[in-house]
Amino acid sequence: MHCRVMLRSVFRCLRTNLVAGQRNMSQSSLSGKVAIVTASTDGIGLAAAQALGKRGAHVVVSSRRQANVDKAVALLQSQSIQVTGTTCNVGKGEDREQLVQMTLDQCGAIDILVSNAAVNPFFGNIMDSTEEVWDKILDVNVKSAFLMTKLVAPHMEKRGGGNVIFVSSVAGYQPMQALGPYSVSKTALLGLTRALAPELAQSNIRVNCVAPGIIKTRFSSALWQNEGIVDEFKKQLCIKRVGEPEEIGSVIAFLCSKEASYITGETITVTGGMNCRL
Ligand code: NAP
Repeated sequence: MHCRVMLRSVFRCLRTNLVAGQRNMSQSSLSGKVAIVTASTDGIGLAAAQALGKRGAHVVVSSRRQANVDKAVALLQSQSIQVTGTTCNVGKGEDREQLVQMTLDQCGAIDILVSNAAVNPFFGNIMDSTEEVWDKILDVNVKSAFLMTKLVAPHMEKRGGGNVIFVSSVAGYQPMQALGPYSVSKTALLGLTRALAPELAQSNIRVNCVAPGIIKTRFSSALWQNEGIVDEFKKQLCIKRVGEPEEIGSVIAFLCSKEASYITGETITVTGGMNCRL
């Protein structure tokens, strides 16, 4: 008798936890969502696509080179992620339009935009940078982020809402030496996030931003492959190592999830504790 009572209470407990578990799962689930991630065949973009895909989203990956797109699509498919791929140079208007149209044709909707692409064609004293450098950096790093948002927002509205994430940088808070124009472009994304959030909140679209520190990708290899530079950076870090792309991807997925439903206009720094702002 005593044993039967105990068993009944164990089952009741299990049933309650099962329901609680299901609620947790559905909150973090992005199943049924369609996510465009730009510049997503390598590094942080690819990690973001993986993180969103693992949570159930159909991800649309793209970059400039078809061979890179094919490789990324094959990798994500091997991880059972629903994925579509196409080439897109975000600096080109016709490429941006084609990316959005292809997503609508093949996936039927757009719920998430991760605007991740950036270039840095210039190292040196900011006073030596040319108009050409500024045009290129602002076109790809800032204007394309806004213009992609403008293209996808009406489609998110049709879905009753959505999420836009910009990928800035710690350099947006504290300009990095020899990376003046790039740093300024990353500061602009902090402003773009704040400028768009109130307007798009009316359409239930949240706009947030991540500012990574030094993350181990090809883009930053000049920094993390140089032991002297890494040691210098480590002095500024609480967590004494370079970050991994997955550590940015998971924050992006969090910002797109229901758990982040009250966060908009925000930038999360993911820097291993680098001292870059109050
Ligand atoms: P990455 O590993 O070098 O990957 C760059 C990706 O962008 C590749 O898939 C590349 O593929 C694509 N790409 C480059 N130019 C493009 C363009 N014009 N249009 C479309 N795709 C383009 O770079 P990452 O480090 O992940 O950088 C991603 C973002 O994180 C950037 O916004 C960067 O500023 C930011 N970030 C990085 C770090 C870091 O330490 N790594 C720190 C702070 C911020 P294709 O060559 O095929 O185009």
